[in-house]
Amino acid sequence: MRNVVIIGSGPAGLTAAIYTARAGLEPLVLEGVQPGGQLTQTTEIENFPGFPEGIQGPELMDKLREQAQRFGAECVFSMASKVELGDRPFRVQIDEAEWVETASVIVATGASAQYLGLPSEQRLIGHGVSACATCDGFFFKGKDVAVIGGGDTAMEEAIFLTRFASTVTVLHRRDRLRASKTMQERAFANPKIAFRWNTQVLEVLTETGHDVAGLRLKDALSGEESTLPLQGLFLGIGHKPNTEVFKGLLELDDNGYVVTKRHTQTSVAGVFACGDVVDSRYRQAITAAGTGCSAAIDCERYLEEHSV
Ligand code: NDP
Repeated sequence: MRNVVIIGSGPAGLTAAIYTARAGLEPLVLEGVQPGGQLTQTTEIENFPGFPEGIQGPELMDKLREQAQRFGAECVFSMASKVELGDRPFRVQIDEAEWVETASVIVATGASAQYLGLPSEQRLIGHGVSACATCDGFFFKGKDVAVIGGGDTAMEEAIFLTRFASTVTVLHRRDRLRASKTMQERAFANPKIAFRWNTQVLEVLTETGHDVAGLRLKDALSGEESTLPLQGLFLGIGHKPNTEVFKGLLELDDNGYVVTKRHTQTSVAGVFACGDVVDSRYRQAITAAGTGCSAAIDCERYLEEHSV
């Protein structure tokens, strides 16, 4: 039986792995379909403390994994396909095959940014298409960018991007924003932000094949098509926490995020959660790593107090 199974391998999961490994708990880390998590989709990370020159997302995640392995964490490229949390020990099924028994679980499955799903958009992720203005906005100094969406995320991204970009165009599929009144007012008052209503993105255009050059758009009312030249496209159409496997087992909020009760403790004692799977607000690598550390410490204390 395992002391702890960590599900997820973004900054939260791997930080939890470093701490639990150093505590001698020999964690098993199920890395999931995207080892390293969302950061492996970004290019340069300039806001993770300790890297004054910046660091590539995949490189940072490799370093975190290496650090965890150095202390005895076992990282496997596998999914948690099923979880049983009703009895002790808990049981986690790996890749729809073998089951592992464990005294505790740390949930660090993260959240996935929603994309439109256009093939042209998917090809250009990290090359002008981004779902994180805080991560990538800096690279669009003096450029023209667009933000898709009409909620708080889109408004926040648009306002943030005006620090760098020359123009920010918000493209929304309806004629009315979903964002809170305050955010709407702030966005409307910003002279760098323009709005295009009832607008659907048909294709992300590129001239070189490596960089975004514009968008092909469709007016949802008239059906008329047009192009908008720009260098950056930011998705602000929401995030989805990766909690499918925990439905009915752990308490989730209305948006599907894991609810934590006492510190990182979930609704089931011995199951802890950290990173973006509990956090719809900050969603930063450093905050995820911070809560990963907290979850590991909470887990260690729980295991000290409870013998399974
Ligand atoms: P929301 O679900 O609130 O908004 C998503 C937006 O994206 C909507 O305007 C929606 O359009 C649009 N959208 C969704 N899917 C598509 C699609 N396929 N194509 C085009 N447009 C699409 O998500 P948010 O991430 O904005 O917010 C989630 C939660 O987090 C909210 O509760 C929000 O208040 C909160 N939040 C709070 C912040 C803050 O307080 N500072 C910052 C960020 C988020 P439509 O309106 O037509 O449905």
